[in-house]
Amino acid sequence: MAMKEFQAESKRLLDLMINSIYTHKEIFLRELISNASDAIDKLYYRTLEDGATGLSREDFFIRLDVDKEARTLSITENGIGMTQEELDNNLGVIARSGSLQFKQEAEQKEDVDIIGQFGVGFYSAFMVSDQVTVDTRAFGADEAWHWESEGLAGYEITPGTKADRGTTITLHLKADTEDENYSEFLDQFRIQQLVKKYSDYIRYPIRMEVSHTHVKEGTGVDGKEPEYETHTEVETLNSMTPLWKKSRSEVSEEELNAFYKEKFYDWQDPLKVIRSSTEGAATYTALLFLPSHAPMDYYTREYEKGLQLYASGVLIMDKCADLLPDCFSFVKGLVDSQDLSLNISREMLQHDRQLKLIASRLEKKIASELQSMLNNDREKYEQFWKAFGLQLKYGMYDNYGAKKDELKDLVLFTSSAEKKLTTLKEYVSRMKPEQKYIYYGCGETVERILGLPQAEALQEKGYEMLCLMDNVDEFALRMLMKYDDKEFRNISADDLELESAEEKEKTQALAEENKDLLAFVKDALGDKVKDVRVSGKLKSHPVCITTDGMISTEMEKVINAMPAQEKIKAQRVLEINGEHPIFQRLQELYAKDKDRLKLYAEVLYDQALLIEGISLEDPSDFSQKLCQLL
Ligand code: ADP
Repeated sequence: MAMKEFQAESKRLLDLMINSIYTHKEIFLRELISNASDAIDKLYYRTLEDGATGLSREDFFIRLDVDKEARTLSITENGIGMTQEELDNNLGVIARSGSLQFKQEAEQKEDVDIIGQFGVGFYSAFMVSDQVTVDTRAFGADEAWHWESEGLAGYEITPGTKADRGTTITLHLKADTEDENYSEFLDQFRIQQLVKKYSDYIRYPIRMEVSHTHVKEGTGVDGKEPEYETHTEVETLNSMTPLWKKSRSEVSEEELNAFYKEKFYDWQDPLKVIRSSTEGAATYTALLFLPSHAPMDYYTREYEKGLQLYASGVLIMDKCADLLPDCFSFVKGLVDSQDLSLNISREMLQHDRQLKLIASRLEKKIASELQSMLNNDREKYEQFWKAFGLQLKYGMYDNYGAKKDELKDLVLFTSSAEKKLTTLKEYVSRMKPEQKYIYYGCGETVERILGLPQAEALQEKGYEMLCLMDNVDEFALRMLMKYDDKEFRNISADDLELESAEEKEKTQALAEENKDLLAFVKDALGDKVKDVRVSGKLKSHPVCITTDGMISTEMEKVINAMPAQEKIKAQRVLEINGEHPIFQRLQELYAKDKDRLKLYAEVLYDQALLIEGISLEDPSDFSQKLCQLL
């Protein structure tokens, strides 16, 4: 077969690798060993599924071979192997999500600092080699294949000679330079050290011929010169103990972080590692991670939640969704349980009582870890909140509020007090003695919310307000209804009960006196409003829009923005400030110029909408009317 070109995206990644000045080039070994382990896993699955392979776990291995003269390091494994087509597809094209994501990141950032943060896969071999060959024979295949590449020029696939099943990847190491010592990857101690560092938990033996030198028996004593002899033997370099099975003291934070990044395709350290083991009704070990940022697809339909599920150390499912409630869908990690059967099918898993028990334990554990992070490391929690707070708020609302009690102490809102994030508990603790409600306003920014006409009266009283800026916020609070027996009040939707009995009386009297005027204005606005009232909650502003009934203007906006939803309309009320000079003007006009009063009514209504952040149905009409008045 003639030389073939790498696909464009692969070329870009390859180019990065070849010209990399990244200092931790050693990670290539981790990547290739990880691929080797995957290749064995694939065949081992088949063995589990139908038993037809006739193989057992003990038959599998990974082997490292060094040839110092030829300057080659090779990684051999007896896994699934590749057919000619697979070779072409898998090694000529960037396949996996991790590599793709890497590529996208690489376009935005300095190349150097991201290489080490990513699982960069097979191509990382080109950081240290000027030629890479792959010899492979797929399981059950009659023919072997040989793949070869010296980098950007392309690759070639030819019939191969590999006699047994599996794959050997051979790296021809680059020549040493002044700055780079590639020969270290031919050194047995260095390789041993790298395997320990990055691949110790790999569950198949990683073997290598290791030489030991010792003093020859009978020499070096009784005044005889010591003579040395060397013997070699094949040793297994890794402990094969999965990371999560090791005790806490045995695993460093660095190791856990590296494990997380490699396994869950992240380029940043996790925010928090959660370890949990229990025995009893459900025996399992869980190793969970809170990512420090939301994955790119997190808030889309493409995102799949789930934990890796192992039965006694063997992976049986890559993303077991049933292990995580939706409100914690951002958690990554794995669960290993000896109570599950290796051959359990997905359908059976769904109904498995053991699994349900584990899931409910994990949910409690995650909630309590979040709570303790909130209590003890506020800064970290706020970082978490920035990434996943939205999901917790959805969680309160979702499923008719099934999780609202579990989540109500974990949610944060921006408070008008110092414009900082606050929990509901903190808000309540700061409430004024006479304050009855938890007040909130909705809008796009804190400034806009604080600028609402209705906010003024609250601030005058020194009452704090929650500023709700995400669509889901008000829905979440409504689902909760109360916190600590305090009801929530939307400053533009409800009676705020800020007035004293006296003030109330005054407002009522004013309304009574001006009954006809109010009726006229309402008439002038037609079906735009449900009512027109004299307001007790306005200070310097002339008018505001409030709503009657369950649906606030914010909810109206949110629901109407959803596709395929029936449009709804909040019941709007125009409130007019009886103390404002404009009110007198309206009274005058009512007495002598009703046409002009109608114009006033329409302009005031539109103004009130604008302040509320609702777009006008007919802006040019508004502008015309304003000009008429001016
Ligand atoms: P990833 O392993 O993340 O998918 P790589 O670039 O490392 O990305 O590898 C690309 C693909 O090549 C793998 O998905 C796999 O299908 C195939 N591959 C790599 N190494 C081996 C191997 N030793 N045996 C079989 N297939 C392999």
